[in-house]
Formats: sequence, structure tokens, C-alpha cells
Amino acid sequence: MEEIRYSINEIFASVQGEGLLAGTPAVFVRLQGCPVHCPWCDTKYSWKEDGSGTAKIPLSEVLVKDSRPRSADATLDELVNLILERWPRIPLVVITGGEPAEQPIRPLTERLIAAGKRVSLETSGFLEIDVAPETFVTVSPKITVPGGRVLDSALERADEVKMVIGDESDLAALDAITDKIPESTPISLQPLSMEESAASLCFRTAVERGGRYRVSVQLHKVLRVR
Ligand code: SF4
Repeated sequence: MEEIRYSINEIFASVQGEGLLAGTPAVFVRLQGCPVHCPWCDTKYSWKEDGSGTAKIPLSEVLVKDSRPRSADATLDELVNLILERWPRIPLVVITGGEPAEQPIRPLTERLIAAGKRVSLETSGFLEIDVAPETFVTVSPKITVPGGRVLDSALERADEVKMVIGDESDLAALDAITDKIPESTPISLQPLSMEESAASLCFRTAVERGGRYRVSVQLHKVLRVR
């Protein structure tokens, strides 16, 4: 059987700053590659193609924050062992990207959960989601960018839908897919770049609609920490 391998941009420990799990200490595993290419993306270095090429680095170097397009390859065993040995006390592992669903993430989620970690996946919902059932899935639809889409199956699987809201057009885009989101799934409105007008629109909308709507702030930007 072919060995499972991952292409990884960076791994670091921090605190989950967004969404329903905000405030939880977490190991972030940023997988390399994203087919969506949002203009506002703040992790463009996790794309495979940004015009500058993607350098191959040893696995140990993904532990150093760099913000350049680069990646290390690791087997499933190497990746799981690294996380468990380096951060034994951190309860949550966030698998993010890029678009992590491009890679075979189900075995990774299964192994981490079997080892006692809580696992969260952050995805745009652009691709099918195949993860262990216990995985907490946040779908952040990128439907306003050219070529953007979110699969119905991703919205059905989501434990949380987190929509970045810059103005009313983003709210309208969200409303166009809301009937695909199960009624029990929370919807987090996240102000684009924490701009004041976007924040006030998110607050107003959450208060007017109530129910499952909530506001997600980016703690790191508010508190100015990484
Ligand atoms: S889906 Fe996420 S990682 Fe991909 S381009 Fe958009 S914001 Fe960036």
C-alpha cells in the first residue's frame, strides 16, 4: 500500500482565535496548497503557486514561522509523532491551510483522535470533506471570489459555518446558501479584516436575527498577538 504523505507549510502552537473554539490552546497544522485563491487571503504563502515557486524544506523547518511559499513532506507517522511528542499537553489540533481537504486528511484526524486529541478542520468547503466523525468541522465558504463555491455536502457536514462579512453583498451570498445549512448549525459572522463597518454590520445582523447567528472576532488581531 502506498504510504500516506502530507505537504506541510507550517506547524505552530497558539490559541484558536476564531469561531466557536476561540480561546482554546491549539497546535495548528497548515497544509500546503489551495485552489481557491481569494484576493484577500492572508496566507497566500500556503498556495502552491504564488509566482515565486515553492521551496522544499526539511520537516524541522516548518516549526519556524516564515510566511514564504515553502513546504515539507512528511509521512502520516512523522506528522503525528511530531505533534504528540512536541505538544503533549495541548488538547486541540487545528488542521488548516490552504485548503486542507486537498490532502488525505481522514487518517490524520483518526490517528490524532485515537491519541486523545480533539481535532478541528478549517475548510472552505470547496472539496468533499473526508474526516473522522468526531472531527469538529468549520466551513468558511468562499463563494464571492471568481470560481469560488461551497459543496452542499460540506455545508451539511459543518459543525459551524463561518462567513467572512465585508459588506451587504457578503451577507446576501450567505443568505443564498443558508437553506443548505442544517438548522442546528451555528453561523458565525466574521468581520472582514476586523474593519469597523464590517464589525458593525456583523453585530447588527447577529442581534437582529438572533437564533444560531453569532459574531466571530479574530482574537489575535484584537489583542495583537500571534
Ligand atoms: S480558501 Fe482560505 S487559504 Fe484558500 S485562498 Fe481563500 S482564504 Fe486563502
